[in-house]
Amino acid sequence: MNPPQPKHRYLPDHLGGRPLVIATHNPGKLAEMRELLAPYGIAAQSAGELNLAEPEETGKTFAENARIKAIAAAKATGQVAFADDSGLCVEALGGEPGIHSARWAGPDKDFRSAMNRIQTLLIERGAREPEQRRGHFIAALCLAFPDGHIEDFEGRIDGVIVWPPKGTAGFGYDPLFLPDGHDRTFGEMTADEKHGLPPKGQGLSHRARAFVTLAKACLEK
Ligand code: IMP
Repeated sequence: MNPPQPKHRYLPDHLGGRPLVIATHNPGKLAEMRELLAPYGIAAQSAGELNLAEPEETGKTFAENARIKAIAAAKATGQVAFADDSGLCVEALGGEPGIHSARWAGPDKDFRSAMNRIQTLLIERGAREPEQRRGHFIAALCLAFPDGHIEDFEGRIDGVIVWPPKGTAGFGYDPLFLPDGHDRTFGEMTADEKHGLPPKGQGLSHRARAFVTLAKACLEK
């Protein structure tokens, strides 16, 4: 009988000494990924630094959009590429803004107005009590290999949409989101509290949770 095959690929075996391509043009995301990958001795280069074109995000799910970005970068470079896609889903709004989270803020990235829109819609639906204002962040991560192999992972954090927004830390919808079991919004937390991994933090955020799953599967032997 053949020994059981490992379910996931061990990433360092597939990099061939080259950096992992991070399919983002966002310097903030790149910095966060570099920090997460450093303990594993993995260097990263971004699609922005490589002047790669940004593919259109035509997927209907976070996972599909992460795949589109990772596959495009792997094809363009012939190297292993990583991409993420994330957003806030509000249950009383049928999961919106969801994959449209960035779009709701418009070209000026006006999250104050995107947060106002969520609050207005929740009030129109009579959602005033915390149990009527449930929401979650999702992060989908994808590793795409030049031979077409794909590894994908997802992380989620549940909580309540509060009003008014609280805190000035973080980005996007952070001031609106109170994670379950906590008494401060993401906007009131330090970066380490929100997405730091042990020993710095508890890996609370959706992205940290997804990354821990990826690390267990593809970065640890
Ligand atoms: P992406 O860059 O296509 O993944 O878009 C993610 C969008 O979702 C961001 O622009 C934010 O609006 C929102 N988002 C995702 N993760 C977070 C988070 O951790 N805090 C606040 N907003 C987030």
